[in-house]
Amino acid sequence: MSRLQPVRGTSDLLPENMANHNLVINAARKASACYGFQEMATPIFEFLEVFSRPLGASSDIVTKENYSFEDRGGEMLTLRPENTAGVVRAMISGGLTQSLPLKYFYAGPMFRYERPQKGRMRQFHQVGIEYLGPDDALSDAETIACGARFLDSIGVLGDCDLHLNSLGDAESRALYRDALLEYLKKFSGDLSDDSKMRLLVNPLRILDSKDSGDRNILQNAPKFPDYLNGVSQIRFENLTSALDRVGVAWFFNPLLVRGLDYYCHTAFEFVTNSLGAQGTVLGGGRYDGLSEMLGGPPVAGIGWAAGVERLTMLVEGVLPNSPKVAVVTADDAAQQAAFHLAEQLRDAGIDIDFPTNGAMRKKLKKADKANIHLVIILGSDELSKNTVLLRNLSNGSQEEIALDFADNGGLVAAIAKSLLAP
Ligand code: ATP
Ligand code: MG
Repeated sequence: MSRLQPVRGTSDLLPENMANHNLVINAARKASACYGFQEMATPIFEFLEVFSRPLGASSDIVTKENYSFEDRGGEMLTLRPENTAGVVRAMISGGLTQSLPLKYFYAGPMFRYERPQKGRMRQFHQVGIEYLGPDDALSDAETIACGARFLDSIGVLGDCDLHLNSLGDAESRALYRDALLEYLKKFSGDLSDDSKMRLLVNPLRILDSKDSGDRNILQNAPKFPDYLNGVSQIRFENLTSALDRVGVAWFFNPLLVRGLDYYCHTAFEFVTNSLGAQGTVLGGGRYDGLSEMLGGPPVAGIGWAAGVERLTMLVEGVLPNSPKVAVVTADDAAQQAAFHLAEQLRDAGIDIDFPTNGAMRKKLKKADKANIHLVIILGSDELSKNTVLLRNLSNGSQEEIALDFADNGGLVAAIAKSLLAP
């Protein structure tokens, strides 16, 4: 192992990737602002219990995926594997349950010790929203519509299916759990080792298994909708008719359960076929029991999180922002003046590239390669005449403009005009 490699499952975000990365994050920020979600951030690490309590002892994230460590003060800390528990912890510890409803947007890195593969990393980034307070079907519809609007704005919605299920209320879930347990017990010898364990601790989680043997057994398992009580059924119908009314296409997936133990009623995932096995780009659900699990008052909530890296693979690439104007000199005598000019133009709001090394020819060649549109040449000739040369690299035209450090308004106007020209 070379210490100069990035840690397995992590990667650098160089400018070309960063531009797409930010495009995805900014689109999510914009779509969520459209619904009144406001941005917030929680710390990247929390006390271990913030995740172990709500995620449940049997959850993959706690059993094998977490990055936990003891700090120098003897506290057990965990790098956040997801942000919902942190946001709800922030609501409770900040005394914010007095001001419900709360609508939050977040973006940032998450950490899971998973087997790295395409679309699956150990440090990855999520954007997400949490809607705390309401528990009605329309708050679910808004949350899902916000996710759809976000995916649409980056051009990937058309490529995704929205899977939707209802896990019902506590009563429905208990009934279903019993039926599922009875069915799965008949196959207990054939289940994967992970699922044998889940059979004892939390059989509902077997529905989430990715093992193909488990998936075969599940084909004929009892289905959630047959166990929903009347209240849960009506709630689900309210949600689906709201989605239908605004044209958010969905399809019913009775096997969809979200990986975490605190979900109830609505569970959903936007899945694309373009990324192979790692096709879920955005997933979420309702978690009315979470606040109490963390030791707070009962507060209903629903939210989603989307994987930025997976989405970045689907969006059309954009180039990083870079200056379109360069100030260039190869003359020792004019260097100080050129530096001064570059600063003055930045003061006037123009982004300026100022290459400090190399011969004029090389600098011009590099500027052309870097898609610079306009080069301002200031050599000792120009300096002695108090002028600069404006060379348009897009069409080769060139003009001489007066240089006046006391008032360079004329030069600024000439640059602005050239930048606006097609
Ligand atoms: P999966 O079934 O793919 O493991 P998950 O159910 O663990 O996903 P969530 O916890 O709901 O995923 O996280 C929401 C989104 O975050 C996922 O849909 C995915 O886009 C992204 N995501 C989750 N884990 C990773 C990872 N290890 N690397 C990259 N993106 C991830
Ligand atoms: Mg996972």
